[in-house]
Amino acid sequence: MSGSERPSRALARAGAVVEIDLAGIAENWRRIAAALKPGTVSAAVVKADAYGLGMARVAPRLAAAGCTLFFVATLDEGIALRRLLPSVEIAVLNGLLPGTGGEFSRARLVPVLNDLGEIAAWRQSATTRALPAMIQIDTGMTRLGLGAAALAEIARAPALLAGLELRAILSHLACAEDPAHPLNSRQLAAFRAALMALPPAPASLAAGSGVFLGTDYHFDFVRPGAALYGVNPTPGRPNPMAQVVRVKGRILQVRDVDSGASVGYGAAHRMERPGRIATVAVGYADGWLRSASHRGSAGIAGQRAPVVGRISMDLMTLDVTGIDPSLARVGGFVDLIDEIHGVDEAAAAAGTIGYEILTALGRRYHRIYRGTAG
Ligand SMILES: *Cc1c(COP(=O)(O)O)cnc(C)c1O
Repeated sequence: MSGSERPSRALARAGAVVEIDLAGIAENWRRIAAALKPGTVSAAVVKADAYGLGMARVAPRLAAAGCTLFFVATLDEGIALRRLLPSVEIAVLNGLLPGTGGEFSRARLVPVLNDLGEIAAWRQSATTRALPAMIQIDTGMTRLGLGAAALAEIARAPALLAGLELRAILSHLACAEDPAHPLNSRQLAAFRAALMALPPAPASLAAGSGVFLGTDYHFDFVRPGAALYGVNPTPGRPNPMAQVVRVKGRILQVRDVDSGASVGYGAAHRMERPGRIATVAVGYADGWLRSASHRGSAGIAGQRAPVVGRISMDLMTLDVTGIDPSLARVGGFVDLIDEIHGVDEAAAAAGTIGYEILTALGRRYHRIYRGTAG
């Protein structure tokens, strides 16, 4: 939508609409905070443009709700967030790339240092004041973070950390959404051992799902991301989070089709009886994954219409044979994600996780933010 234009005009032109409930995101942050043991606080992870929902709108709303610690993945995300929020603490999970120390300092960003080389590089960029840093420990994910050898080296030579102002020690759980997984308690034990070997600092192990593993996993702060945006942090159990995203697609055409007609690319769907097909203005260029072809569905006035045929770049086709033509009509909208059929259901139909559904939501949607006040 361009600056001075009335939102209703942009909506009138839109074939694909995303509604984002900012009050719901703040409510989810409060629900996480309420689940923590006394003394533990909740940060907020807003990397990848707040999981596709728009960091520029989401982060200030979370700050207004009381969040003072934010995590992004990259330096660019951190610089953008600093412009939005001058006084919160911002940590950059992917750490320090060579030669970027000055930019971290200027934007007052805290790098999450992931190996001894990064620690040394951050110390070398020292000016006069102390260098704020978080240190990530790899306790079993084998992704980022200091491993056992690096920890042993620090234990032998504590001066390796000299000059750092240690804001936190982090680790990340690989299997937190599965409470029965044995790696959870192994990572917990490894994290506790690492904390013993390092100087005292606030500790953080749990992201969103880790919160629900119990208070042993809470430490000083937790780092939820997807749960804030309505993804169930406890898969297989009722979702403790509110749905905050609604995705709608406009019906461009409805047609009666004969038995035997084929639908879409590759003629991959064949009508077994006469019926009706609605063509909707959402496709994989909008991030509606092609893997949902033949498997997904959309809501029309409380009924479900299955996706038939392949999802194409700009369009998908729904079988609306059983649905009242006055409801499945040209110009109307179908619901691809709503309160009942949420982001996790959409993900299951596409063979993926809610995280990927949200971060894939494209730039072409008309975006509406609700719940902006309060
Ligand atoms: C992405 C990320 C998080 C947030 O994870 P969610 O599963 O979205 O809650 C927390 N910590 C680290 C290190 C991450 O990379």
